[in-house]
Amino acid sequence: MYWKLIHCAVVLIHYFSAMNYILALDQGTTSSRAILFDESQQPAFVAQQEFRQFYPQPGWVEHDAIEIWKSQLAVAEEVIQKAGITSESIKAIGITNQRETVVVWDAETGRPIHRAIVWQDRRTAERCDQMKVDGMEPYIRKATGLVCDAYFSGTKISRILDDVPGARERAAKGELRCGTIDSWLIWKLTNGAHHVTDASNASRTMLFNISEGKWDQKLLEYLDVPNSLLPEVVSSSGLVGRVSIDSPLKGIPICGIAGDQQAALYGQQCLVPGEVKNTYGTGCFMLMNTGDKQISSQNGLLTTVAWQIDDRITYALEGSVFVAGAAIQWLRDGLKIIDESPDSEWLASKIESSEGVYVVPAFVGLGAPYWDMYAKGAIYGLTRGTTKAHIARATLESLAYQTRDVLDAMQQDSGLNLSVLKADGGASANELLMQFQADILNTNVARPEVLETTALGAASLAARAVNAWTNQSTTSDMQIFNPEMDDDKRQELYSGWKDAIRRTMSS
Ligand code: ADP
Repeated sequence: MYWKLIHCAVVLIHYFSAMNYILALDQGTTSSRAILFDESQQPAFVAQQEFRQFYPQPGWVEHDAIEIWKSQLAVAEEVIQKAGITSESIKAIGITNQRETVVVWDAETGRPIHRAIVWQDRRTAERCDQMKVDGMEPYIRKATGLVCDAYFSGTKISRILDDVPGARERAAKGELRCGTIDSWLIWKLTNGAHHVTDASNASRTMLFNISEGKWDQKLLEYLDVPNSLLPEVVSSSGLVGRVSIDSPLKGIPICGIAGDQQAALYGQQCLVPGEVKNTYGTGCFMLMNTGDKQISSQNGLLTTVAWQIDDRITYALEGSVFVAGAAIQWLRDGLKIIDESPDSEWLASKIESSEGVYVVPAFVGLGAPYWDMYAKGAIYGLTRGTTKAHIARATLESLAYQTRDVLDAMQQDSGLNLSVLKADGGASANELLMQFQADILNTNVARPEVLETTALGAASLAARAVNAWTNQSTTSDMQIFNPEMDDDKRQELYSGWKDAIRRTMSS
């Protein structure tokens, strides 16, 4: 009852103050979300819907693209209804999305010809092996900034064309369209009038030449993907078109597009070279803005497009940690020593230090900068006095050590020195982790008040295009964790971690 009254009051206040909003559509791997940001750049209304995951065979992951579309439209309409406003109060839409996942659809009917193949899907791993045998890898690295891997969209598109009877002929005749989820949503929102993507999403397809800012003809030919299938690559911030379907969204201009990690980089305002954000989710995704320089990594990091604004491409270096929050889930579901992920904090704070215990959560091998696909997880330094608190603490600390590994690699590759690490994602709520991260990096860690940085980034890109939000929020809206550990202690702890890694590696 009280909640209903409060909700009505909020709606009334917003209505009478003639507030303007930016609508962010945040299309993730497990759910579609819509967030209305108000003029103070705060998330004022949120709606979310989960959708089904399909696992047709081991290593395969699919989504129903129609379900993605319907859930995304439903949550967008729901927030508008919650706010009690009309489309006139929404100045622009910004879209951010799960990256690399692809849809191929019929240009005439708008019906997908196959389920969307999701970024996690490994079905094209052999195709990638063949590409390597054919000597394509150095070219891929140079042209796209990526490594040759099934994770990216290119081989997935080719596979759909191979697997659906008649698809290759239809593609050659120009009867099909394809794209990442941003393209699919915009095509649906504009009733097929706009078939576009932005450079940040394009750069994850393994088909986009990041130096030229165009689809790469050699890779398209190699994978037999006709040009007519592909979207036009547009700016990440600029008017694309207006929603034209019969919906409360009708008429709203679509003005921002970015892949989820790049949107978070923008949302965290990492706008100048050397600024870095790290998202602590199931895994960690770290991106460093490298400005107009494409830095080619010596440590297995990816070069990618951060965004393209007014024909100017900003590049980023990207490194990921496979197991981060997932290690906390393992404490919960595997070891059952906590009930909920946030409990890891109180359990870890029962002791002052992990007393030489190290957990290396190499559950799926080790990523950058070690790249050992065969490593298995390990726990070191156990004594008779080791308790579950030590294991919890050492597991939390492993997120910080892995982050330092990737960050050191990034600084080495870029020659840029970091002054502050901007943190977000579910596990960044953990204060003990944030403090330990600052200690082990000997750098300030800043956590924004609004943890919805991905949606905020998409909204900011859209706001920029319509000249809304002229006063950007600053790091003063952030909580800063300052390093407090002395140098000797830091070095001792980190060299213990390096030792644990050495012992964990398979060769
Ligand atoms: P994703 O987008 O990858 O699903 P989220 O950003 O939602 O991830 O974060 C969820 C992850 O964060 C989970 O793996 C969970 O274990 C971890 N997590 C959430 N809260 C905490 C916390 N307070 N301390 C440590 N880990 C946490």
